[in-house]
Amino acid sequence: MKKYEFILKDLDCAACANEIQEKLEKNPKLHNVNVNFAKLKLTYETDEVSEEEVRKAVKEQEPDVEMIDATVKNTNQEDEDENGEIKTDIIRLVIGIILAGIGLYAPVPPIIGTVLVILAYIVLLYKTAKIALKMLFTGKKINEKMLITISCIGAYCVGEHLEGLMVIILYEIGEILEDKSVDKSRKSIKELMNIKPEYANLKKGNNEIKRVSPEEVKIGDTILIKEGEKIPLDGIVTKGTADLNTASLTGESKLAQAQLGKKVLSGSIVVDGMLEVQVTNEYKESTVSRILELVENATDRKAKTETFVNKAASIYTPIVIGLAVAVAVLLPLFTDVPFTGNNGSIYRALVFLVISCPCSIAISVPLSYFSGIGKSSKEGILIKGSDYIDAIKDIKEIVFDKTGTLTKGEFEIKKIETYQNYTEQEILRYSAIGEKYSNHPIAKSIVKANNEQIENVEIQNFKEIAGKGLSYNYNGKTILVGNSTLVEAPNNNTNNDDGTTKIYVKIDGDLVGAILLGDTIKEGTKETIKKLKALGIRTSMFTGDSKAIAEKIGKEIGIENIKSEMLPQDKYNELEKIIEANAKVDSKTGTGTNSKKLNSSQKGKVAFVGDGINDSPVLARADVGISMGGVGSESAIEASDVVIMTDNISKILDAIKISKKTCRIIKENLIFSVGVKVIILLLSTIGMSGMWQAVFADVGVTIITIFNTLRILK
Ligand code: ADP
Ligand code: MG
Repeated sequence: MKKYEFILKDLDCAACANEIQEKLEKNPKLHNVNVNFAKLKLTYETDEVSEEEVRKAVKEQEPDVEMIDATVKNTNQEDEDENGEIKTDIIRLVIGIILAGIGLYAPVPPIIGTVLVILAYIVLLYKTAKIALKMLFTGKKINEKMLITISCIGAYCVGEHLEGLMVIILYEIGEILEDKSVDKSRKSIKELMNIKPEYANLKKGNNEIKRVSPEEVKIGDTILIKEGEKIPLDGIVTKGTADLNTASLTGESKLAQAQLGKKVLSGSIVVDGMLEVQVTNEYKESTVSRILELVENATDRKAKTETFVNKAASIYTPIVIGLAVAVAVLLPLFTDVPFTGNNGSIYRALVFLVISCPCSIAISVPLSYFSGIGKSSKEGILIKGSDYIDAIKDIKEIVFDKTGTLTKGEFEIKKIETYQNYTEQEILRYSAIGEKYSNHPIAKSIVKANNEQIENVEIQNFKEIAGKGLSYNYNGKTILVGNSTLVEAPNNNTNNDDGTTKIYVKIDGDLVGAILLGDTIKEGTKETIKKLKALGIRTSMFTGDSKAIAEKIGKEIGIENIKSEMLPQDKYNELEKIIEANAKVDSKTGTGTNSKKLNSSQKGKVAFVGDGINDSPVLARADVGISMGGVGSESAIEASDVVIMTDNISKILDAIKISKKTCRIIKENLIFSVGVKVIILLLSTIGMSGMWQAVFADVGVTIITIFNTLRILK
């Protein structure tokens, strides 16, 4: 299916964004419809519906919103439009205030005064009322602009001319400030993710260098990266050495060295030196573009709080208007409050309407999630959706894979045992010719240790048995390389109390030798586990490796629960048990199924941290699947919910911190917004707060919540 992407220009409320999405979702021929308020972006997939039809639907819902093709839009243009609009708003505001001032206070004949005040109303209220009416007539829900319009006109009608003008003046000032601050936060989030390379220096045959867009470069092309430039595509260094700043990928300011034959990733910046790189991935497949896509799509997955707030907003306004009408009509019937006057029931109903504007909540919640995701990607942690921001803070247990996650996965050969008349070199060689085709860290280490040429060696029937090892045919021989279960070696003859992993080699049914490999624990692992425990998080380790090693490494790191000799499906089943145990906290649903969604109501979340080799199903099953060294394994990026760009598990602590902070700020904003509204409401019932104080509070609260949200990015 074809994917479409549009910028929704002039989309100015989160609830409207949700309404557009709901409307488009009603069309069964449109798939994966999403409207992202923070990014002003509409995406959908379809093969049948024309762009015109979608445009029409959007216009019906939001007459003011313009759909601009995201692929052709010009960001500068967008910024200019935005600024231009703010300018005309300011001019309108000033004219309105002058008219009102003369009309109310200048010594002019009363008739002229009245005309001027009405003119001021028209100038000031014009835009808000126009949108409110348009929305009403296109047969849709009533929104906050309606609340303001009713309150203003109402105030005029009950004779509170100044009051009514103050409402609209403050509301307009608020809108302008809001536009500016939302704009500012959008920009700072965009800046955080400013890793897109603008161009590539393509080297042509005759030593000519041409500046092209990264999309034009093909696999095998040579590109040149000079000092200070961003590497546009992934590739292998063919000439030169340089220091690389990979901070935009990993969030770490440590410099990396690039030299001949080494793989470099797009998005890194050449700090000093110059490189010639042979491209290995097209732009679309390159690291930088994969990261951008991931982060771009992340905020499309809305968190429950977000959908809740959106849903609430759309039923909220009509209820509020209903209540206001009730106040206006019922108060005089049952109490001695009159209808009119500045203490009358109509006036009180109008104050009530103003207080009820839900602006601050509608804007700050989605913006907070967006900021949380932006901030973590800056730290080298890619979080695939707002719902995971929610989930991470609730993690109660983390299960770690051992090899490549807690340990470096760079094995050193400690010893080679031979049981028949094969030399050590032959044992190594026979295993390396098969391991060449495996991605397992053990395989990579064995291939690396075998210095002999095995380029043109052919093998047949290669099979990788996950969690066990390999089998293949070579020169008419059947070869097995793997752990004791694979080769059916008596497990007790493994003398690996020394903490080595023993890989057996079996040729035509004879156990001919074994390779003993030693791995090292990653730096910072112990500290991270300790800190996780201090946060009250239980830790477990799952490994396919033998019990002796698992115990040794697990104890050294300080992991509480150690499970060894597991096949991938054992890991899956065991993880499921842990998830169920943690889910019992407050939910009886969602047990024993593969569906993640069913478990979403549970309290204690379970995370699995792995490298994606032999553990993709477990990563996918966990409440939060975290993959390490994300740039390495594609299947890990696919299967996991959080991708950590470095090999450093301490990033999990950062992710928890960001998640907690984001959710705390959302809570603060909600409590603050609702709290202030309740206070104003109480003050107004005892006659201490009028209409314009209510608007002032609404505008102030919105601005304060936006600034509070920006703290997430710090
Ligand atoms: P872990 O849980 O530690 O990441 P795996 O599940 O990936 O381990 O593998 C478990 C065990 O299976 C390894 O310790 C090793 O003994 C064996 N094994 C897996 N893949 C290979 C391979 N390509 N070559 C040799 N042995 C392997
Ligand atoms: Mg593994």
